[in-house]
Parts: sequence; C-alpha cells; structure tokens
Amino acid sequence: MSDTIAAIATGGGVAAIGIVRVSGPKAIEIADKMFRIIGGGRLINAETRKMYYGELYGSCHNENRDKLIDICLCMISRGTFSYTGEDSVEFHCHGSPVVLSEVLRALFSQGARQALPGEFTKRAFLNGRMDLTQAEAVIDIIEAETPLAARNAVGQLQGSVSAQVESIYTELINIMAHFHAVLDYPDEDIDEFKLQNYLSTLQNAETTLAGLMASHERGRIMRDGIKTAIIGKPNTGKSSLLNALLGYNRAIVTNIAGTTRDTVEEKVLIGNVSLRLIDTAGLRHTDEVVEKLGVERTLSALQNAQLILLILDGSKPLQNDDLDILLSIPQEVPKIIIVNKIDLPCVINNNEISEHLNNSQFSILNSQFLRVSALTGEGLDGLESEITRQFPEPDKKSVGEIITNTRQYDAITRAKSSISETITAISSSLTPDVVLTEIEAALNAIGEVTGKSMREDIISRIFERFCVGK
Ligand code: GDP
Repeated sequence: MSDTIAAIATGGGVAAIGIVRVSGPKAIEIADKMFRIIGGGRLINAETRKMYYGELYGSCHNENRDKLIDICLCMISRGTFSYTGEDSVEFHCHGSPVVLSEVLRALFSQGARQALPGEFTKRAFLNGRMDLTQAEAVIDIIEAETPLAARNAVGQLQGSVSAQVESIYTELINIMAHFHAVLDYPDEDIDEFKLQNYLSTLQNAETTLAGLMASHERGRIMRDGIKTAIIGKPNTGKSSLLNALLGYNRAIVTNIAGTTRDTVEEKVLIGNVSLRLIDTAGLRHTDEVVEKLGVERTLSALQNAQLILLILDGSKPLQNDDLDILLSIPQEVPKIIIVNKIDLPCVINNNEISEHLNNSQFSILNSQFLRVSALTGEGLDGLESEITRQFPEPDKKSVGEIITNTRQYDAITRAKSSISETITAISSSLTPDVVLTEIEAALNAIGEVTGKSMREDIISRIFERFCVGK
C-alpha cells in the first residue's frame, strides 16, 4: 500500500458539508502543500485528530495563492490512530459537488490517486485495524434499513461476533500447540496430551457456534425484511392494502378483477419490522394465459413467504374461491387473516369464517381476523400491532451478535460441523491425528469468519461491494 488514495466520502448531491478523504504515506505531505492553517502553523506539525481551520488551494499554497478552492476544516490522523491504519487526512469542505471535485482533482495533481470502492476499509483490514466481520459491519451500518439492523451492525463493528469466534480460535490453537509440543519435545516436562481433557472446551465452542448459527434466520429477516405475501381473490383490495401500508400508490388499483398480473414487491417499515410486501395476482381459476402465469407466480410466492396476509372482502359473502385460497396456505407459515372494506356494509359472515377456519386442518384457529379498510385506513394500526406481535424484537442482549452475513454463516456452519466431528472422534477414541485434522478444518473455517485465512481474490470481492470513499 505504497500509494496514496483519495475520494469524496459524502453523498453525491448538494449538502451543507462534504468530506474528502486521503490515506497513504504521502497523505499529510500532500495536504500540507494544499492547506494553509489560518493563524499559522503547518499540517505536517499538526496534532492528530484535531480540526484546523484554513484555506484550501488547488495547488501549492506557497506558489499559487490565486487558486483558492475553499475555506474549510482539515483533520489529520497519523498512522496507527487512523481508520485505515496509515496517515490520513479529511477535508471538511462546503458541500458543493463542484468544490469537492476540485479538491479531488488538486489531490490527484499532487500525486494521490482515486480510491477504489471500499479501499479505505480494505486498508483498515489489511493493516489489522479491524477483522473481516468488523469490516463487513461497516457496510451493514451504511446499508441498514431499520434502527435494529443498524444497532446490530454497530455491535458487530465493536467486535461482539469477533470476540466469540476469536476465543474459540485461540482455544483450538492451544490444543494443536499442546499436541505438537508433546510430539516435538518428548523429553521436556510437558503435561501429557489427552484429548479427553479438551472435550468440555470443544463442547462449549460447539454451543457458541450453534448459537451464532441459530441467529442467522433472524439476521436474514433483519437484513432482507420479512417476505410477506398479500393474497386473496381478485378485487378484495390487495393492491389497495399494499398502497395503504406504503403510504403511496405503488400498485395499480382498479375494480377490474385480475389487474395485478405479476407480483409487485416493495419494502415497508412497520414499527421496527421491515416487510418485503409482495402484492400478488388474485387467486382464482382462470383460462386467460397472462393471468394464469400471474396465479402461478402467486403460488410460488406463497411457498417462499415468511408471513401471509390473506385478504377477504367484507362487503361480499364468503365464496368458494376464498375457501380454496385458505386451503392453499402452507400450514407452518405465520398468517394474518384480514377482512377488508369495513367502510362498506358488512356482508361477510364472521361466524362462517371462523367455522371454515375451524374445519380446515390449519392451526390458525386462534388467529383473530382483523378488520380494516384499505381505503380509509381504519384498522391499519391493529394490523401493524399484530405484525409486531408476531415478529417481536430480539432480546436486547443478543443485538450485535445476530449473524446477518451469509458468508460468515457459511464459515461458522463449517466450523461447527468440524467441531462436532471432533467431539464424535474423541468419544469414539479415534487416534489424535484424525481428531487434529478436524480441528485444523475448524480453524480454517473460523479463520475465514475473521479473515485470517481468506484468499486475496475473495477479500477483494467483499470490498468491491462498498461505496467509493468508505
Ligand atoms: P385487488 O385486486 O385485490 O388488488 O384489489 P384492488 O386493491 O385493486 O381493489 C379492488 C377495488 O376495491 C378497487 O375499486 C378499490 O378501490 C376497492 N377497494 C379496495 N379496498 C377498499 C376498501 O377498503 N373499501 C372500499 N370501499 N373499497 C375498496
């Protein structure tokens, strides 16, 4: 990392403040040439992490004083104290895209080059300022769509996942070291190597990894939102409900049955729960080719759904199509039955709904059906409470330790499986070399979680997901 990189770190539009970042061996030297501290002194002698007010020039301020770009703040961070682990500078300028690109151009003319996406964080990782779970937490904070997802990512940045897997890594290394010490120095006075003595350590490691794995389902929901299919026969008000929950008209609403022919997907935040709402084509028997395709997609959305909102039209009697839909709902998926159009005279018979629910083999007997009007918004607060009741926030203690990242989950799963194999091998009194092969595999997998044993090309691919300037 011998070159010096620079990038605009703030968003593309006009803003009050815009930040340009520089990192690398020449960062402070270049900044010193361009920035004149008002009140005297030089950046090369400046204190680390202290803001200085001054003039920022498009070239060396001693030579060409007419190229003033901005009057702004500048902060330097030296080596080990900085985010990247190398000398860094931040210019806090006025947030004009023109000013910021001028600053960038000037930095390039002084020898810096454009930073690649995620290159600042990649340097932080390569310089040992953070491990891979923490680096991935950085992007998760930036991309978080709910306060909970952001809090979890901040916990990971603090190292709550790293600490758990790191301690398992150290224990496995200790086992390997003990084994090799006994083998390599038979004459030394080293405690006898007995795998049985390590059984409880391995069992604890297995439990910790199983706990992290178990958090992943919750993590996926937190990151991607709950896949929620809105189903019902045509004209019951599915698109209207989607629009009402979104707060704007996303889906086309007409009184012509079969208008929604494809699935429409949108994200919405209900309390602290993020839903991926899927408005589906109405389910009914049809020979019309396009509508038929829509119905097939609806059935497929149903299979993958994590929550189903079944809409019935309260202004009409219950019909066979409604009952067929009830029967098509997979039993194990959480569901909420919604009677819509309560602003109109109620025709649907509540007892009849209950009766059919009781007669169906589904265990939705206790789920109260909710009464709403997608048109007036009446009852939507009840729907929101029911959703937050069905998907409560995780225990506060575990926030920060929920695995949202599939790459980490995959490596943790492999580590856990190798440790389980190790435990079985010890219990079956297999020879130490067989056991140690499994421990080696667990070490490699854990090393992948934190980035200790990770191929360079995979690391590069991880950081390519980041934005420029981070
Ligand atoms: P979908 O086919 O199930 O998606 O139903 P739409 O959302 O397209 O609605 C079908 C018709 O019912 C439209 O004319 C809507 O304006 C009307 N509609 C939907 N929800 C309500 C409601 O709560 N009250 C009333 N009165 N009409 C509604």
